[in-house]
Amino acid sequence: MEEAAAGDQSNLSGVQHVMLVLSGKGGVGKSTITTELALSLRHAGKKVGILDVDLCGPSIPRMFKVQDSDVHQCDSGWVPVFVDQERSISLMSIGFLLEKPDDAVVWRGPKKNALIKQFVADVAWGELDFLIVDTPPGTSDEHISTVEALRPYKPLGAILVTTPQAVAVGDVRRELTFCKKMGLRVLGIVENMSGFVCPHCSECTNIFSKGGGEELAKYAGVPFLGSVPLDPQLGQSLEEGRDFIREFPQSSAFPALAHIAQQVLDSASQRSS
Ligand code: ADP
Repeated sequence: MEEAAAGDQSNLSGVQHVMLVLSGKGGVGKSTITTELALSLRHAGKKVGILDVDLCGPSIPRMFKVQDSDVHQCDSGWVPVFVDQERSISLMSIGFLLEKPDDAVVWRGPKKNALIKQFVADVAWGELDFLIVDTPPGTSDEHISTVEALRPYKPLGAILVTTPQAVAVGDVRRELTFCKKMGLRVLGIVENMSGFVCPHCSECTNIFSKGGGEELAKYAGVPFLGSVPLDPQLGQSLEEGRDFIREFPQSSAFPALAHIAQQVLDSASQRSS
């Protein structure tokens, strides 16, 4: 690990704030929150990098519609893929290294852990305000490798994503324990798919119940960052690789996503000051 820290000094030295996005299980919207957070931070004028460490199902390149990009190497490592002409969001994902995008990546532990360390160390990010690390679901050796590899860069903290059902919330309890053990600050809990606002009558239906994430945050004494409703325009934007934050400010999920980003900006500026 010390070797990685020394080697990547130049690659992450231009990154102001590193944060991780965690979830207890797949399908709760971890990549969605990562993507929308990056778009919101860009909207606020920030330069953002995303490191997609979800080796089992890398979906971030698809959400930015750059899944067919090739990655190149330069003297200091991998060159991340820029998702826009302004070069304000850059992305490195295991998805870029797969032969076929749908290949299930099943690697053995040591190989995975070495790759994660290499990913963290060898991407030439340049100057970034934020680096968001999208992790696989659960808490595994890969998470420990990721957190350890990032430790020299003093991460701002972790965002925990859950859906409102008790079962998903139970998984977040394990995430909280993991953060505590690893000495990783919890920036807060996001409850995703929290209700559905009917586009016709604006009435909110709580399809998966509601409030589990908020209750857990209260119980654990960590911030609650907000409830993001199920939003068909959000789902469609992700399918089509569109900028939801710029195109759908009237949409039901927008205020919650904007509020989450604002809280991240506040945490970052508190630390910088
Ligand atoms: P994870 O990264 O936790 O596996 P994803 O972010 O890939 O989950 O989300 C799973 C699916 O749910 C994706 O197809 C995504 O578009 C959709 N989705 C996630 N959150 C929402 C939401 N709030 N509204 C509508 N669709 C959503």
